[in-house]
Amino acid sequence: MKIYNTMSKRKEEFVPLEEGKVKMYVCGPTVYNYIHIGNARPMIVFDTVRRYFEYKNYDVNYVSNFTDVDDKIIKKANEEGVTAEEISQRYIAECKKDMDGMNIEPATKNPLATEEIDGMISMIETLIEKGYAYEKNGTVYYRTRKFKDYGKLSHKNLDDLQSGGRTLLVSGEDEKEDSLDFVLWKPKKEGEPAWVSPWGEGRPGWHIECSEMSKKYLGEQIDIHAGGGEDLIFPHHENEIAQSEAANGKEFSRYWMHNGFLNIDNRKMSKSLGNFFTVREISEKYDLQVLRFFMLSAHYRSPLNFSAELMEAAKSGLERIITAADRLKFLMGSAKTEDMAETEAEKFAKSAEYVGNFESAMDDDFNTADAIAAVFDLVKFINTMTDEDSSKEYLENLFDRLVRLTEVLGIIVDKEDEILDSDIEALIAERQAARKEKNFARADEIRDELLAKGIVLKDTREGVQWKRA
Ligand code: AMP
Ligand code: ZN
Repeated sequence: MKIYNTMSKRKEEFVPLEEGKVKMYVCGPTVYNYIHIGNARPMIVFDTVRRYFEYKNYDVNYVSNFTDVDDKIIKKANEEGVTAEEISQRYIAECKKDMDGMNIEPATKNPLATEEIDGMISMIETLIEKGYAYEKNGTVYYRTRKFKDYGKLSHKNLDDLQSGGRTLLVSGEDEKEDSLDFVLWKPKKEGEPAWVSPWGEGRPGWHIECSEMSKKYLGEQIDIHAGGGEDLIFPHHENEIAQSEAANGKEFSRYWMHNGFLNIDNRKMSKSLGNFFTVREISEKYDLQVLRFFMLSAHYRSPLNFSAELMEAAKSGLERIITAADRLKFLMGSAKTEDMAETEAEKFAKSAEYVGNFESAMDDDFNTADAIAAVFDLVKFINTMTDEDSSKEYLENLFDRLVRLTEVLGIIVDKEDEILDSDIEALIAERQAARKEKNFARADEIRDELLAKGIVLKDTREGVQWKRA
């Protein structure tokens, strides 16, 4: 199994630190708003990486934090006149709802920065003791030049950084020994959340959070430090390496993975540019499975342009797979013979080729685009190689084969009576039309049909609202 390692800029064979186990840390979101679909890309991508390791029988310890103390959270709290905690708790809950909709497996642990401050303080103390950090007026800085390997992940040269940095020096930063030094601990400002530390009240810098939480929940050395996006390579991950390797005295992570950007009109989707859609907005139009399928239709390191056409293509592709699964279920229900015939056994054996292609694609740095092509080949096989005379065993075997592959992609094909948002909207529109024509029998029928699928309708003055019961 090969993984592209940002550190070596090459695909490398994956060798776990401990046989059969993967320790994986994924930088999580800063929670001050609904996540946008750019933020969703690393979530979907690295969840798929995890699922593939699980498919290969690895025991995956998957840790992903929430950054719940940050300038943006504090700003939002001040705007709303509530506490920072209220903001972060609210958006953690909303983020988890979105993740659930995208079928992201819950992490082994989601540590919160604010619950790990003691550990961060002791890591900073270790760095000071070892000469890698110093305090000035309540701020603790990392002594960047002291860490000889600084720049090894982002392939940056310290002197180039220095000449760029000098012009960027902002007021108050002149107390630093060197413009390259970065903050580990910052002193309290009025109205901000703060914790007691040996350097006075204050709060940690962003980078130290991940170094500490990764160490606490996975140990000093991990297999994979994943993204999110490539914007985190510098300075965030470079600084994490400087902190962790200086404090622990060993290599931090064996592999570093980063996803490419989700773009819109060929520009990075971001909050600051204002060119984003939230996952929540997308969920009003599409089942989030469609979003997931769309994200996996490209290689995770390639830029991916978001467009309505590509979402529609993802929707119909996904429907094609689900229809094949439904066909198998239908045929299983009416199969006349139980056991697989010899000719069926041969056919079934032949379909293993698609599993082989799927695995080769995933083994090659998680090439989900090619893996999906292999799933489509299996779908085509199912559609052409089964009929009313197929045995139950043959159909079940094909069904299991399809489900095993789609589960790696996090695509659910076996949702009992699950109904897509767009289909619900279509039925509601049909019900409104039936009512207009005074066809109340049909209107009631639609209401009951939706209710049977767990969809509750509420007629309001603003129109029909619905929710999943
Ligand atoms: P942010 O909200 O900018 O802190 O980003 C949270 C996570 O989402 C990080 O891992 C980013 O790298 C990732 N991210 C943000 N925008 C995009 C984008 N347009 N495409 C892919 N990943 C993104
Ligand atoms: Zn991080």
